[in-house]
Amino acid sequence: MDFSLTEDERDLVELCRNFATNEIARRAPAAWDRAECPTELLREMGQLGLLGMLIPEEWGGIGMSTVGFVAAMEQIGLADQSVAAAWQAHVTIGSLPLYLFGNDAQRERWLRPLAAGHVLGAFGLTEPDAGSDTRSITTRAERSDGGWRINGRKAFISNAGTDMSFGVTLLARAESGGEDPRFGSFVVEKDTPGFTMGPKMRGIGWRGLDTRELYFDDVWVPDDHLIGNPELGLRQFLATLEVGRISIAALSLSLTQAVLNLATDYARQRHQFGRPISQFQAVQFKLADIATELEAARWLTYRAAYLRDSGQPFLKEASMAKLKASRVATAAASEAVQIHGGVGYMLDSPVARFYCDSKVLEIGEGTNEIQHVVIARALGC
Ligand SMILES: Cc1cc2nc3c(=O)[nH]c(=O)nc-3n(C[C@H](O)[C@H](O)[C@H](O)COP(=O)(O)OP(=O)(O)OC[C@H]3O[C@@H](n4cnc5c(N)ncnc54)[C@H](O)[C@@H]3O)c2cc1C
Repeated sequence: MDFSLTEDERDLVELCRNFATNEIARRAPAAWDRAECPTELLREMGQLGLLGMLIPEEWGGIGMSTVGFVAAMEQIGLADQSVAAAWQAHVTIGSLPLYLFGNDAQRERWLRPLAAGHVLGAFGLTEPDAGSDTRSITTRAERSDGGWRINGRKAFISNAGTDMSFGVTLLARAESGGEDPRFGSFVVEKDTPGFTMGPKMRGIGWRGLDTRELYFDDVWVPDDHLIGNPELGLRQFLATLEVGRISIAALSLSLTQAVLNLATDYARQRHQFGRPISQFQAVQFKLADIATELEAARWLTYRAAYLRDSGQPFLKEASMAKLKASRVATAAASEAVQIHGGVGYMLDSPVARFYCDSKVLEIGEGTNEIQHVVIARALGC
């Protein structure tokens, strides 16, 4: 394995570092405080080509490798996790179903504007009564008037309700084969009659991310809104989530690096008992542990990305990367707050913001318990 970056990947990292330092770090915290999605930053990222990260140039993207995407995420997430979360949801689960399973007409119509960064993509899987147990979704799509009539409700859907959103790609029960339900995935554009949504939800972190409930009340879409195989929608969605897990792992790396940087700087400048607290072994060991765990998580994540780029199976490795990196991130955020003492508990301090943002990394795109299930299954259990 050689994870040294190509020239294109290095250029991308440089671009992301500059944008993250000069724009995101400066402007995103205010959006976090107001709990607003900073779509103007996402639009500017689109102008830089960053919203079509994993989509080939043929469809308007920049055709970046997964390794390059992870390296880019390490820069974006260092500056702000809500922007990074919205960005990665768009790049992976928001766009990939159309690229991987759509036909050329659908790619032309929906993928191209997503890749160009004109609109934001959303992925509608979770429902109020169906989270980890994806097969128990009850949203239905029934054949009607040469198209499909959709009824149901989705929960916690990111990126569907901003002024930049185009709609959602959702999963619905398309036919009931008795014990063996079949699932189809459909595009529902905003402004389609019967498609409405709730207010932006209030999380303890990712406060800039737009996450909502979506309601489908007799929503009719023509046949060409069905993506891929009408019976294999669940498999298509789960395949998309494999990439999403690498992306959440990368987001976790960026958060860990951010809190490590903050805690190290603070420990070097904060004096107690007549010396910087970085001279106390208890503090040094915390920092050394974070740095070591970060490096372990980093290698798992880059390896999962490398496997995808080289066309090898990466299901187990993506779950391992997500499991490890998100655990490392939540533990690191907690220790980094500890190193800051009372200052770290106050929402005005950047480390507190990262602490709030960390928990969801163990929940989104499959909880860590579900990552255990995936890994155990791959081991033959
Ligand atoms: C900020 C945010 C953004 C999100 N964005 C999206 C999005 O864009 N699109 C989307 O479709 N979803 C989205 N989600 C939903 C997310 O994917 C789900 O919350 C997650 O999959 C867990 O589902 P759940 O919340 O229903 O928890 P549940 O499935 O009800 O789980 C509750 C607890 O039970 C545990 N559990 C469940 N089953 C098992 C099992 N078999 N073995 C062991 N433990 C188990 C879980 O690990 C968890 O600890 C988002 C969630 C959040 C918080």
